[in-house]
Amino acid sequence: MLVESENAQHLDDSACLTGRVVAAQANYYRVQLDNLAEIPPDCANDGSLLCTRRSRLKKIDQQVMVGDRVQVEEPDWTGSRGAIAGVFPRKSELDRPSVANVDRILLVFAFSEPNPDPYQLSRFLIKAESTGLAVSLCFNKSDLVSVAEQKQWRDRIHGWGYDLLPLSARMGIGLGDLRSQLRQTIAAIAGPSGVGKSSLINLLIPNANLRVGAVSGKLQRGRHTTRHVELLELPDGGLLADTPGFNQPDLACSPTELATYFPEVRSRLAEEGCQFNDCLHRDEPNCVVRGDWERYEHYLKFLEEAIARQELRQQQPDAESRLKQKTNTAGQRYYEPKLKTKKYRRQSRRSQHQALDALYQDADVADL
Ligand code: GDP
Ligand code: ZN
Repeated sequence: MLVESENAQHLDDSACLTGRVVAAQANYYRVQLDNLAEIPPDCANDGSLLCTRRSRLKKIDQQVMVGDRVQVEEPDWTGSRGAIAGVFPRKSELDRPSVANVDRILLVFAFSEPNPDPYQLSRFLIKAESTGLAVSLCFNKSDLVSVAEQKQWRDRIHGWGYDLLPLSARMGIGLGDLRSQLRQTIAAIAGPSGVGKSSLINLLIPNANLRVGAVSGKLQRGRHTTRHVELLELPDGGLLADTPGFNQPDLACSPTELATYFPEVRSRLAEEGCQFNDCLHRDEPNCVVRGDWERYEHYLKFLEEAIARQELRQQQPDAESRLKQKTNTAGQRYYEPKLKTKKYRRQSRRSQHQALDALYQDADVADL
């Protein structure tokens, strides 16, 4: 998922105003400026400008995403307005929610209330791994369980290939470690509802004012009603994308990709490979992955899902692939239905822009 921006333009950030898009709504972008010294001393500007996108960018189809570093022109300091004239190359792109330059996914679960469900946790981890970004895992509500129980979980999760950071938003435990993990990075926070994400964000960012415990309706969709992402500024530097509101992440990976999202598999394959390059690690001979590790069961279950999904996709080619582009004698293009052939449709590799998809259904509504 780490992509080089195709529209990378050669921008000179010394000659102009630069900043980071921290929120977007309709055709407006809130840009937090890098260098506050550029703001004239006599105006009451908070360090950000509400910007439109230059029509030149529209012409070259250069999108602007939350998280983008941008070049700003024509600042109107009294009205706090400006125009985005260029977008710097992106380090990464998440699709849903649409955020650029995220460095890390911060997964939050709880030791209790709700109890961690290993399969659900695995799903979240795999989805997070599929972005290609660094993954941090913390368990909140350590105040509800014994030290021995915390240790059990830490050891267990260590076996999965992750360090588990125990936290208690209520007691203020572990926040220093969390802050140092987040310092100077752009992180996207994710996790099931009720684990304490809003509580943690409110502690990390005192002026975030997120409503705690605000879960509504049968669908357990939280406080969020639109697909709107905002980057919240951490006091120690760094940004946090509040991207809540998902239940079961949808694993959209292919059967062969799946194994690569398990650290346990990666370390087994690093030592020696399986006999077959396309080994699905089920019953193939000389498979080094199959065996006695806790999440092997999870792997097999998700593998079945991935195979079923792939078969379904092959049976239901999308509309585009049922039509064939042709050119008539006048040189005009038209489409006609493809004849059914026996040939297998080549499986389209998912774009590098791996989404957190269903992971994030709605994002926080915050006024620009
Ligand atoms: P979110 O849905 O993940 O954003 O979770 P919230 O922050 O809304 O918290 C859900 C519930 O858990 C609220 O009632 C919080 O008061 C409670 N909660 C949050 N953090 C802790 C904690 O560290 N310990 C305990 N015991 N409860 C917590
Ligand atoms: Zn294998």
